[in-house]
Amino acid sequence: MNNIAYYKKKSLDNLVMRSLNSVWHPCTQIKYPIKNTNNFYEIPLIPISHGYGPWLIDVLGRRYLDAISSWWVNLFGHSNSYINTALKNQLNKLEHVMLSNLTHKPVIKLSEKLSSFTKYKLGHCFYSSDGASAVEIALKMSFHFWYNKGFLNKKKFICLQNSYHGETLGALAVTNIKLFKGIYKSLLKKTYIITTPDSRNLNKGNNAHEIARCAAFDLEILLKKSSNKIAAIIIEPLVQCAGGMIMYDSVYLKLVREICNNYNIHLIADEIAVGCGRTGKFFACEHADIWPDFLCLSKGITGGYLPLSLVMTTDKIYNLIYYKNNMNSFLHSHSYSGNPLACCAALATLEIFNKHNILQRISQDMKKITKKLTSLITHPQIINFRQQGMIWAFDVIIENPAQREIFSQKFFSTALKNELLLRPIGNTVYLMPPYILNKNEIKHMILAIFKTFNEVISSK
Ligand SMILES: *Cc1c(COP(=O)(O)O)cnc(C)c1O
Repeated sequence: MNNIAYYKKKSLDNLVMRSLNSVWHPCTQIKYPIKNTNNFYEIPLIPISHGYGPWLIDVLGRRYLDAISSWWVNLFGHSNSYINTALKNQLNKLEHVMLSNLTHKPVIKLSEKLSSFTKYKLGHCFYSSDGASAVEIALKMSFHFWYNKGFLNKKKFICLQNSYHGETLGALAVTNIKLFKGIYKSLLKKTYIITTPDSRNLNKGNNAHEIARCAAFDLEILLKKSSNKIAAIIIEPLVQCAGGMIMYDSVYLKLVREICNNYNIHLIADEIAVGCGRTGKFFACEHADIWPDFLCLSKGITGGYLPLSLVMTTDKIYNLIYYKNNMNSFLHSHSYSGNPLACCAALATLEIFNKHNILQRISQDMKKITKKLTSLITHPQIINFRQQGMIWAFDVIIENPAQREIFSQKFFSTALKNELLLRPIGNTVYLMPPYILNKNEIKHMILAIFKTFNEVISSK
């Protein structure tokens, strides 16, 4: 049975039709128009019934290995018994309480633990529910700090080419991906955009280190002229994920930290995707041995269970914004700030890191997986194979840019047929699996990606 026929089976059809009629799915087009033709490429919509470990099971009992951690959030598998138990216990105590004038153990413990991970350099945690909000909060706090200090002109921000920081209007303003900005551009605050340290720009004998230096120089040139108008630069440390798993040398982080100090602007590290062990260390900034002024976390922090985000910052910033009169103190009133259930899932997640020595495990698994993938990367249509921690990516040469989206959709649906959940970004195929794959699951993932690649390439 081919893909489309399979998904048209009656029992599935009912749920698919009901979902399409009532749910507005994000980033989903079930029929994808093929450019310059009247044809459509049909893409499946899959009703998932349950999950365990890295596996997702649909309502017909078919399984898919979740090789992208359900949009990069799931670290320790679906329906993880340790997190389940912690949540059940918390449910019997307190589901939610507002965080204004009240507090509770889960939020205190989580803040203390995360602060200790930064050696108390970032000792204050402010909570929200999604990544984009954390970015907005960091931007507001940075502006607010300079405002309270009397630098009323410091209200612009810098971001990198191909950056992604979320899709609310403030976060979208510091995002530089055409697809997401698109029609909304006219609604957004103007932002300075500087050169990405993308290490694929290797040419003329440059190495990744030199590329990072050139990109940092670009920042310095801008600040020489305009630092009096700029509050902060926001970056995704080491990997620009949504921009296409763009990786760069950690020296860039070191240089940017220095330049920010020299020119009096804040460094906001958006570790929403790269934090929580994804790059091989708990925080990606640790690869460069630096701390930002603001660090945003979300996605993996609850193990992929519940929406939670936070911004961590320094004593200096906290004190200047907090200990002022009411007019000058920070405002961001989020109903579910520091939700106890979400904090409890986050605490359980951090306990798993500790109990099972996860960072150690990651350092072993990443070598194994890289080795196994190496035979695939010899294919002449594959370029720029790259890896950082538990992220692998490569680009597939597709000459006609209009064909890249079709390739991505084909890859997605062919992978599903091979029991693998993957969602390439244009012609960039990537793996970002949970940290708990066993030997057989690693083998399945590698075989399925090989098979999918060959099927998609030969079907052209
Ligand atoms: C996903 C992501 C965000 C936005 O998080 P949401 O929870 O989807 O709003 C922001 N920054 C980065 C780097 C991300 O990957």
